[in-house]
Amino acid sequence: MKHPAPDTDAAGYPSDWIFDIALKDGSTVRIRPILPTDGPLLEGMWDALSKQSRFYRFFQVKERLEPEEIVRFTVLDYRERMAFVAVEEGEIIAVGRYEMREGSSTEAEVAFAVTDANQGRGLGTRLLLLLTDYARQRGIESFFAFVLPENLAMMRVFRNAGFELERRLEEGLYDVRFPTAESTETVAVREDHERRSIAASILPIFYPRSIAVIGASRNPDSIGGRLFANLVTSGFAGPVYPVNPGTPVIKSIRTHASVKDIDDHVDLAFIVVPSPYVLDVVAECAEKDVKGVVVISAGFSETGEEGAAREEELLELVRSAGMRMVGPNCMGVLNTDLAVTMNGQFGPQFPPNGNVAMSSQSGALGIAILDYAARLNIGISSFVSVGNKADVSGNDLLLYWEDDPSTDVILLYLEDFGNPRRFSRIARRIGRRKPIVAVKSGRTAGGARAASSHTGSLASLDVAVDALFRQAGVIRTDTLQELFDVTSLLANQPLPQGRRIGVVTNAGGPGILAVDALEAEGLVVAEFSAGLQQKLRSHLSPDASVRNPIDMIASAGPDQYVACLEELLASDEIDVVMAIFIPASPTGVAETAAAIARAAREHEGDKTFVAVYMSAEGAHEELTTGTVQVPTYPFPEQAAMALSRAVRHAEWRARDEGKRVRFDDADIDAARAVVAGAVERMGDDGGWLEAEEVDAVLSAVGLRTPRSRVVTSAADAVALGDEWGGSLVLKVISPSALHKSDVGGVALDVTGAAAIEAAYNTVMGAVPDPEGVLVQEFVSGGHEVLIGMTEDPNFGPLIVFGLGGVFVELIGDVAFRINPVTDVDAREMISEVKSARLLDGYRGGPAGDVDAVAEAILRISMLVDEVPEIAEMDLNPVKVAEPGQGVSVVDGRMRVRPVRGSWLPSRRDIIATV
Ligand code: ADP
Ligand code: MG
Repeated sequence: MKHPAPDTDAAGYPSDWIFDIALKDGSTVRIRPILPTDGPLLEGMWDALSKQSRFYRFFQVKERLEPEEIVRFTVLDYRERMAFVAVEEGEIIAVGRYEMREGSSTEAEVAFAVTDANQGRGLGTRLLLLLTDYARQRGIESFFAFVLPENLAMMRVFRNAGFELERRLEEGLYDVRFPTAESTETVAVREDHERRSIAASILPIFYPRSIAVIGASRNPDSIGGRLFANLVTSGFAGPVYPVNPGTPVIKSIRTHASVKDIDDHVDLAFIVVPSPYVLDVVAECAEKDVKGVVVISAGFSETGEEGAAREEELLELVRSAGMRMVGPNCMGVLNTDLAVTMNGQFGPQFPPNGNVAMSSQSGALGIAILDYAARLNIGISSFVSVGNKADVSGNDLLLYWEDDPSTDVILLYLEDFGNPRRFSRIARRIGRRKPIVAVKSGRTAGGARAASSHTGSLASLDVAVDALFRQAGVIRTDTLQELFDVTSLLANQPLPQGRRIGVVTNAGGPGILAVDALEAEGLVVAEFSAGLQQKLRSHLSPDASVRNPIDMIASAGPDQYVACLEELLASDEIDVVMAIFIPASPTGVAETAAAIARAAREHEGDKTFVAVYMSAEGAHEELTTGTVQVPTYPFPEQAAMALSRAVRHAEWRARDEGKRVRFDDADIDAARAVVAGAVERMGDDGGWLEAEEVDAVLSAVGLRTPRSRVVTSAADAVALGDEWGGSLVLKVISPSALHKSDVGGVALDVTGAAAIEAAYNTVMGAVPDPEGVLVQEFVSGGHEVLIGMTEDPNFGPLIVFGLGGVFVELIGDVAFRINPVTDVDAREMISEVKSARLLDGYRGGPAGDVDAVAEAILRISMLVDEVPEIAEMDLNPVKVAEPGQGVSVVDGRMRVRPVRGSWLPSRRDIIATV
């Protein structure tokens, strides 16, 4: 039943192309390159093919595969001839293969066979997409196939994969051809496969028809006792079977000794046995055809190497049985949908039903969060404590919640990203429909990076996380308190249409505090128009202020609130209404709270509505009950913070996604050649490029650099001065001086033979190990900016922009983005850097060519994308001339090293296609 260990001895066996793949129906199969030892399995598959399938494959009805055919199909070089097999329950159920056309290295014939019982599960399309990826990476540009006209299924496979087909009928056969290149269509097909099949594969975990609790206990204090009791007392909609060989009855329900003894199908098993028994118990679940397991038991990778090995074995078991697993080492799963009411966790709280889904990477915190949610009346749709995430990952859950009709807002408590690139791609898409709010721990953990460049020392780990969240539209909160404050707004109110806030209050002080807090968050509290002020005035006493905030003074009662709120809700002068209420006198409090709630409810969805109810007792229940809840905060600062996050998210959604820019004038091949030469010279560790190489790479991608040359004598420097005319810069070249000007190794604006000679000697004397002098043309005037790139081990290349010079680290006013950056990103990076306002001609100073800066960022982005050998880059400074005059890189450093293998999904991810 277990998958045979891949025989990595097979020459050239591409063992990183072994994947567990989720299919349309949610089942999972393993797809791997074929092995020379697969002959018997292949014969078995042959037997399972109908006559028709054999005919479609070979255009003749073959009885059996000849021995030499088996060898030809299984012993491959994995380059010119390649095959993937899909394996389920130890049998091959599908094969897809290609074979290069003789005499061609860019064209291959592709063919498939899927056993009749497994047709219609989408195996053909998945195999085809995998083969195309594999082939494309090996230089194969197009596939062709011969298909019988009546073989509609085959035609459908080609079409469903999104390829642009060319089809010709020849001697009764279709000759079908298509390019292996990715297109918008093939990418869309992949994304569609991913979201549907992964969601389908974890559906049984959220909507099981029946549940077993393995390790259920009579002891009401034990985890097994609490979890079982929770499922039963919360009223799970189907049967719950306790499994415990040592106890005949738990809570009046008869137990079974093993899950296999249960005389019913079991969709989901919660596993609460000590870790040494987990594998056996899960193996029994596999035999019982259980679809999902939630492993609560601890004692796996969180405990060290031995535990990690056990977890690996557990995962292998789960995968080979086609099950999905939450955990191990988790707190459970709950789904409040009345169709199931599954309280599959051991904490004391079952939160109210609502539209917020949440996953937590910390079990204990998860319990606290549920408790808090219940107290704040934040309704939960489903909750998953992901534990060690051996199988089901945060990304899988995002894909599930993407189309889950019960979920409108997604909360994540993250300690790490399983696969940040995948997270970013998925979150970016989902965020356009459902806000994702995240608390990511470890904000201060960064900063430990080796600082061999400005860019490197600026990039703490956290910077990458921030950039990722910003680009993907994820709302980041720093604390759990903020997480809930933002969530209660998003779960109950529409996103703000803009930044303009109207405030109504019954006390002046809190009104002023609110305005301060709102403005500090970048929101706008503008004076109302005379017309609106007049209308407001008609409802209020003459002492009241109606400019914004509306201070109705303490005597205001429910009627005044309602009248003013109605005016604000109907006005197009604001986007958000904030009602502040101080229960100053003991009478009329409930009535006023109810009036505020009523106004909000009657205008549900018209405008974003929040309340501030300043009382130590917490929000008044009139505000937090009923179907439409008013997000209510004890302090105006909290409301302002929540609003600003929501406003920024709404702006992210509304903004143009931007596009990546390819510069046709950039000679990437030339840049590659320079870098390749340097990598070859420097070997495995790589190193910093020579000044001339940096110049060559930058010029190749269309970035201007001043004329420069390396000299080793004062006479040569003087000669250059004569040859070029104009003013010079002399810089010492030295392995020890990271920043040359720090040690007096740079002489600027030098003219005349005597001065050049003196400057030469000065800079040469500035370091112990001078290797020569770089003579450059002096670029006068202009602003100085920094454009850089550094590599994050998890997130890949990061691009940085800031104002240049030696103080960048000190000031830290820089913007980061994960590469690739779009044209919109490049503009935003510039506007995000506060000091970059200097480029607009701040206070009468000269303006800079901002367009050229944005273009330079995009050119660097393209270079980094196309030449992955570049590991670090510091262009500091890039001189920015006046608008229309461009930019010029006067100091550039670039570190290169050989590229590690191209990125593939991790073995641990269940994927739909690569
Ligand atoms: P380092 O960063 O190693 O100290 P740079 O080459 O950046 O050395 O030179 C230091 C400073 O000198 C730059 O920040 C810039 O202000 C100025 N500078 C360097 N080269 C030129 C040039 N070609 N034209 C004008 N100014 C320059
Ligand atoms: Mg510099």
